[in-house]
Amino acid sequence: MSLSRRRFVVRTALAAFGAYSIKGFSEASTTLPWRNWSGALTSYPASRFAPASEDELVSFLRTTSDTVRPVGAGHSFTPLVPTDGVLVVLDKLSGLFDYDELTDQATFGAGTRLGSMGVPLEAVGQAMFNLPDIDRQTLAGAISTATHGTGIGFNTLSAYVTEIRLVTATGDVLDISPSTHPDLFRAACVSLGSLGVVTRLQMQNRSAYRLKERNWAQKTEEVLESFDELANRHRHFEMFPLTHSDYALVLSIDETEEPINHPAPNPEEEAQFGNAMSSWMLMPPNERRPHINALAEQIEPSEAVDVSYRILANVRNNRFNEMEYSVPRERGGDCLREILNTIAERQIDVVFPLEYRYVQGDDLWLSMFGGGDRAAISIHRTAEADYRPYFDVIEPIFWKYGGRPHWGKVHSLGYAELNELYPRLEEFRMLRAELDPHGRFLNDHLRKVFGV
Ligand SMILES: Cc1cc2nc3c(=O)[nH]c(=O)nc-3n(C[C@H](O)[C@H](O)[C@H](O)COP(=O)(O)OP(=O)(O)OC[C@H]3O[C@@H](n4cnc5c(N)ncnc54)[C@H](O)[C@@H]3O)c2cc1C
Repeated sequence: MSLSRRRFVVRTALAAFGAYSIKGFSEASTTLPWRNWSGALTSYPASRFAPASEDELVSFLRTTSDTVRPVGAGHSFTPLVPTDGVLVVLDKLSGLFDYDELTDQATFGAGTRLGSMGVPLEAVGQAMFNLPDIDRQTLAGAISTATHGTGIGFNTLSAYVTEIRLVTATGDVLDISPSTHPDLFRAACVSLGSLGVVTRLQMQNRSAYRLKERNWAQKTEEVLESFDELANRHRHFEMFPLTHSDYALVLSIDETEEPINHPAPNPEEEAQFGNAMSSWMLMPPNERRPHINALAEQIEPSEAVDVSYRILANVRNNRFNEMEYSVPRERGGDCLREILNTIAERQIDVVFPLEYRYVQGDDLWLSMFGGGDRAAISIHRTAEADYRPYFDVIEPIFWKYGGRPHWGKVHSLGYAELNELYPRLEEFRMLRAELDPHGRFLNDHLRKVFGV
């Protein structure tokens, strides 16, 4: 299938991937089910508790002994949240609480969506250093799994936390900073919601700024060969390699003073690209390469300029499940090549692009990027397809390259394997047991992760 006009831009292509509907919510139940964003995880909490104040939360934890799980926006793909106990929802503890003009720090309620932080921060002259691919997550949910964006000069969001308020299983309120509790701080910045309920977070920001984004399509191998140089040259750099193709969709983002110019996506272009995609999906995977290459060659470069938070995060309306591992940066290229070759050789029927980005190392106990810079590689499967067969083939490739799983994205590892990958996991386990000796904050998944 080839198209007569060169009229697609990368944004169109990314929007069209996975243009499928989500499964219906059909099961009959007397309890209101909780579902994660992709729809793959369901649980039936006994009740939901949405405190209107920190005092309400403290009193609840002091006077009850129920099992609890804090939930953010439900955007994790791993069963961190499911519980048959009480689901604690922090939606009412949100918004900008406080800021400091001199230090560029600001304190937000834990339930604040990342996408609701840009405007109030801009009003006080501040902006976050980086954002993940989308901004629907809550701040506490995002930092609890070490959510990250792209950029070799940037850490996960967790590493920009300067103070955390945690309400423990016994209802004690702890204000945790690097100076007051050095160890607990490095544990609490990425805690999988297992140490208590986070109610507020102080973040290190910077002065407000504007960004220019450039998108284009280029041969994956060419990009890989100069990836380090491009990652060093641009503030943010990443690519989305297309499966059964020689091409990737490429993105660079840099600071600019240029005037705002941010064209909206064109729905007609999106529909046309979707039609082209549907036609190649009907072909056997081993016949797709020339067609997808031809389509990639028709993709025109595009640019957009806007305030930082409107460039860094995207809207992803089409649901999917995702596995992401990070591998040592120098092994990233080979790991990606082996995954793309395996998909081609095994003729895995997947059209969703991969995502390849660099993240700076840090010293947080459970950060995927603890100890050095790493390459984060993601694979996706549309929400209504069974992701297991595909992910089961690819996951061992990640292990071969020293991969650590993203806590919020599908993986199959338990305590024994994770303990090999995270040198501070044992210390985290001991700290968790001290703060929550009766396991109020545990569910089946966390028992597997912590070997409880
Ligand atoms: C479309 C999409 C795009 C994504 N893009 C990226 C990306 O670019 N980069 C990346 O790294 N990840 C990405 N993710 C993963 C996502 O950022 C993480 O899974 C994140 O943790 C989800 O945040 P949430 O608010 O939905 O939290 P949830 O998924 O609801 O919860 C996550 C964890 O946080 C805990 N938690 C939530 N609130 C609190 C609280 N108040 N106190 C204590 N613990 C709490 C929960 O118990 C749980 O352990 C993406 C996910 C989706 C669906």
